[in-house]
Amino acid sequence: MHTLFDLTGKVALVTGSGTGLGAGMARGLAAAGADVILVDRTDPDETAEAVRGLGRKALTLSADLSGLPAIRETVRKGIEAFGRIEILINNAGIIRRTPAVDFSESDWDDVMTINAKTVFFMSQEVGRDMMKRKSGKIINIASLLSFSGGINVPSYAASKGAVAQITKALANEWAQHGLNINAIAPGYMVTNNTANLRKDPERTRAISDRIPAGRWGMPEDLQGAAVYLASKASDYVNGHVLVVDGGWMAR
Ligand code: NAP
Repeated sequence: MHTLFDLTGKVALVTGSGTGLGAGMARGLAAAGADVILVDRTDPDETAEAVRGLGRKALTLSADLSGLPAIRETVRKGIEAFGRIEILINNAGIIRRTPAVDFSESDWDDVMTINAKTVFFMSQEVGRDMMKRKSGKIINIASLLSFSGGINVPSYAASKGAVAQITKALANEWAQHGLNINAIAPGYMVTNNTANLRKDPERTRAISDRIPAGRWGMPEDLQGAAVYLASKASDYVNGHVLVVDGGWMAR
């Protein structure tokens, strides 16, 4: 592994790492040398097995991260086990699909809470520990809907706009303390998040037609961006939202 991208001996925490993009990025960090704290609502055992299979340590923690007590307890347990958290990937997120005219308060609050509020308070809790050591990498998972409004997913679009702004706000305050806070904006990826969308043949075709790469993304497609933003290679990159979308935004 080239030293610029080498994560040997680093400790990462990835939220929502039992499945989908979080599981893919956790595997990518482990392949680059990191030990990984895997957090999900249910124990992310399969991802832990994959991390251990790559010769790295894995700790699984099950938590619903939508409240501050669970966020604090999760970070405390991670630091207790490994002594530090050097890489945080704020990946856990949900989506609710209903036309704006009928959108409910609970669909607004549930999405805004885990997708935006939790990103901020996980960053705050881990950031405090990183600041003591004057180094750390925080990677937030944004979306193409950090840039555009989407259809029938108003709280998701609002929350992902917030993720991009939280990323920039934290970079402005914490870069001077040795931290890098950046985001990855994935394009259309094959995970549970898009399962309902992919049931609609018309929307699926329209989306596919606009992707220059000619295919939807897979969880492995985020591994390179995650390793880059977690590694020394990105030490002078801050407040950036890195689009990984097969070219969608270029069209
Ligand atoms: P996914 O397969 O549904 O995975 C999301 C993960 O987050 C699941 O493991 C889920 O756990 C976990 N999670 C949700 N709420 C949680 C909570 N309150 N506490 C702890 N964990 C929680 O979807 P994904 O596509 O991999 O999504 C990962 C991230 O990428 C999300 O932030 C999503 O918005 C973003 N993203 C996805 C796409 C895409 O096309 N797929 C595009 C752009 C951005 P459970 O399994 O228990 O629900």
